[in-house]
Amino acid sequence: MPCFHRDHIKLTALPESVRGCEECLAAGEPWLHLRICLECGHVGCCDDSPKRHATAHANATQHPLIRSLEPGEEWAWCYVDRVAMLVPQVTGGTLIPPSPLGTRLSS
Ligand SMILES: [Zn+2]
Ligand SMILES: [Zn+2]
Ligand SMILES: [Zn+2]
Repeated sequence: MPCFHRDHIKLTALPESVRGCEECLAAGEPWLHLRICLECGHVGCCDDSPKRHATAHANATQHPLIRSLEPGEEWAWCYVDRVAMLVPQVTGGTLIPPSPLGTRLSS
């Protein structure tokens, strides 16, 4: 199934580094994996994180596309069409801190 929202991609390059999920950092909450909004650059946490801030951001703003910020992951996801894709026009890579929940889940 195609995605009809590629014109929502406003981000041209990924940030060099982020500190974590913006809302989790503000609330002092832990997150698992990080996602970035390809329309405004908002950084939120994945659906396996307790607060699911990336999905909450998409619902609140109608920004349909996110990309994974996890090392080695390049996929993007459209919430509207529910389809995964690659977005080679968004360049760069982001340095992220270790997940506060990562070590707990893998041990
Ligand atoms: Zn789409
Ligand atoms: Zn979060
Ligand atoms: Zn956004």
